[in-house]
Amino acid sequence: MKRRPLLAGNWKMHLNIADAVELAKNVAAAAEQSDRDVMIAPAFTALSAVAKALKGSRLFLGAQNVAWEAQGAFTGEIAPPMLTDIGVRMVIIGHSERRHIFLEDDAMINRRLRAALNYDLTPVLCLGETLAEREAGSTFQVLEMQLRGGLQEVSAAQAAQVVLAYEPVWAIGTGRTASTDQAQEAHAFLRRLLAKIYNKNLAETVRVLYGGSVKPDNISALMAQADIDGALVGGAALKIDAFERIIRFQ
Ligand code: PEP
Repeated sequence: MKRRPLLAGNWKMHLNIADAVELAKNVAAAAEQSDRDVMIAPAFTALSAVAKALKGSRLFLGAQNVAWEAQGAFTGEIAPPMLTDIGVRMVIIGHSERRHIFLEDDAMINRRLRAALNYDLTPVLCLGETLAEREAGSTFQVLEMQLRGGLQEVSAAQAAQVVLAYEPVWAIGTGRTASTDQAQEAHAFLRRLLAKIYNKNLAETVRVLYGGSVKPDNISALMAQADIDGALVGGAALKIDAFERIIRFQ
């Protein structure tokens, strides 16, 4: 089945408002000339200005996290309606930096994901094993726990809206990409698991992105794999020449 490619940029804790707006405009111009879906996730401080600058653009605006409540005493958190209010349409959830630095667990990630879905935000659910877990041979076990945990109490209708991002922790920001075989194997595993949890049809429609040191010179080989539907890009998404080449992969 043909799934529409999605190239997503995670800007992490980088760029002031002016630089974010400038980069967003350049990415929008690149996306305009392509038939792929493109998403950028700026820091919270730049979201509003970037949303204004992108009015009328076909770029998807994303956030890097979302709270599970609509409002209240949750210092430091941003509620789903606050994001939709300014035009955010997608949200990264369960990024390995949230899991490992800020100790977010599957239960918390699941609450964030369900809240996003309830507000029509498309969640990009990140999963991936650490180097120690891969070397211990437990990659699939970890992925299964993260996928089942993240999608707890999520109906098939809602799960069909989710985007998955397989991001081996050892490949994020390290310059060390998973081999195409390693990535394809993990993506195929996730798709089989979706078929088991939900159904084959759903498994065939959900997009599974790869993330971990994606660059202009490895995107084509990754995208040539049957179960890789796009990329979640960190470092290379901060440079317009690199991200534009990723968007336009052949
Ligand atoms: C990421 O932040 O999700 C990521 C994959 O980063 P990088 O592309 O820099 O490895």
